[in-house]
Amino acid sequence: MFVCLFVLFGLFVALNPITRTHKVYLSFHLIMMLWPLGQVGVRSTDIPSYQHFYLTMSFVALSLLGPGWLAFVLFLTRRTHYLRRPSRLAAFVLPAALCAASAVFNPFGQFLKPEQGQYGDREYGPLFWIMTFVEFTYFFIALIHMFQAHRTVRSLNERKQLATSLLGMFVLTVFAVLDLLFNVVLSPWLGVVQGLTSAGIVLSDICFVFAIYRYGVFDLLDTAKDRIFEQVETGIVVIDEAGKVMDFNRGAIGFMLLAKGESFDLERFLLSGQPANDVSDFLFRYRHRPADKIRTEILLTVGAYRSVSLQVSPLLDRFKSLQGRIVAFHDVTEQRKLIDEMNLKNEALHERNLELIAMQDELYRANQKLEQAAVTDGLTGCFNRTFFQQYVEHEAFLCRQRNIPFSVLLFDIDHFKQINDQYGHLAGDEVLRATAVAVRAALRGVDLLARYGGEEFTVFMPQTTRSDAQAAADRVMSAVSNNEVRVSGHTIRVTISMGIVTEGESEWAAAAAEDQGSDDSGSILHELFSKADVALYQAKNEGRNRVIVSH
Ligand code: GH3
Ligand code: MG
Ligand code: MG
Repeated sequence: MFVCLFVLFGLFVALNPITRTHKVYLSFHLIMMLWPLGQVGVRSTDIPSYQHFYLTMSFVALSLLGPGWLAFVLFLTRRTHYLRRPSRLAAFVLPAALCAASAVFNPFGQFLKPEQGQYGDREYGPLFWIMTFVEFTYFFIALIHMFQAHRTVRSLNERKQLATSLLGMFVLTVFAVLDLLFNVVLSPWLGVVQGLTSAGIVLSDICFVFAIYRYGVFDLLDTAKDRIFEQVETGIVVIDEAGKVMDFNRGAIGFMLLAKGESFDLERFLLSGQPANDVSDFLFRYRHRPADKIRTEILLTVGAYRSVSLQVSPLLDRFKSLQGRIVAFHDVTEQRKLIDEMNLKNEALHERNLELIAMQDELYRANQKLEQAAVTDGLTGCFNRTFFQQYVEHEAFLCRQRNIPFSVLLFDIDHFKQINDQYGHLAGDEVLRATAVAVRAALRGVDLLARYGGEEFTVFMPQTTRSDAQAAADRVMSAVSNNEVRVSGHTIRVTISMGIVTEGESEWAAAAAEDQGSDDSGSILHELFSKADVALYQAKNEGRNRVIVSH
């Protein structure tokens, strides 16, 4: 049996990567090997002291088998945190240690006594039974953990592994009970049956080895997690509820000085650099709200400048009570640099955008001025001849099509040359400007006044019949003649002569009847102005300061 176990031991060591759980298992396996070895040893000699030595070895091994088993089960079911509390650890170790001590010291032969000086046959004392009880208690607790884990574990693979291990425990328990029954309780009547517990140990061990090989998860995840924890660039520090450093990885060393068991000095770390923003809220929550997940950024100025993101997250157990916290340091220098560059570029773009908007406004205003300049006369502010012609060409055409009457006034200042000669050109200019202002005041909003050339002006009056135009002309005449223009101490008054043309009353009807009406807007205008010109000429000829209506 010892050899079997030894071979399994060798196989296990050779074929498995050594993890913490494997180490626990191997220690447990080694203890299991001592039992059959001791059993063989007892029978291999007649010398009582040797026999006693082997027996002691067997029973010490048996005493340790219980806690070994329980430890192995706790590792297998990932429940080692149960042993973290000192009181539980003591309850775990002490009974087994006392049992082992009672097997070693065998006080007053209360553990076992030789029969006729030989240990081949022996009598068991109360301490032996206490040990048996303690061992079964260990097994029982281990079984409860196995059952619980088997119920709660989600992965099928792990469940199968646990089921196989459970079977192993069951087999060993059965064999140990049989051994106790045959070789201790019933031995006086039935005689000794050799190697029952050893056989149980071997069978159960085969179950374990099978469980580990066949469903090999074992603590693969823990190993992977450990490796990630060690190799990840992010610095990670695990602290307990009181803020003491429990563990940290290699990545964390680059960010601050750390020592396990010492308190984690967050304030000092924050003071060692320049916080990117106000850290008072971060510190307040770190101190008073340990269940909050918090984050801040700090610029480390020791050595090369580094931006570090610092995140603290709570570690909660199943009942949401705080176990400790994880502090993670992440070097974000590159990201920060990119963000800063982007922000600068954004600012520059924003400024450029504002400049462009201002430029656009300026352009718009300049454009408006240009447009205005293109259609107005610089001296009088009236529309210019070019614009007037375009406008009237269009309007006159539309009015003709819709049979709407309109009128055109054409007037010229009388004896203007004399004003220039008498008062100078600048005074003449002023008279022109003032006359335009007076005329515009006498017109309606819809009428369009333009400077036709020199000291000649024209007015387009939409929807205006001949009589309306005549009335308007009278208003304009008196507005001009009453207008006193004061220039360099002189008061100048002028009169005007005017020709009026009206279209859209009788003419179109007659033209349409004769089919003579022209649809060409250019010729409409030409026709209009030659008529107006004739009327104006007539007004001049008839003595000036008068209105002639063209018929
Ligand atoms: P009438 O029309 O009554 O027959 O006599 P007139 O003296 O007004 O004769 P005419 O229309 O031929 O003369 C126009 C004058 O107006 C000639 C020109 O020197 C002057 N004139 C034309 N444009 C301007 C101008 O912009 N400013 C000034 N000051 N004078 C101008
Ligand atoms: Mg004139
Ligand atoms: Mg003239």
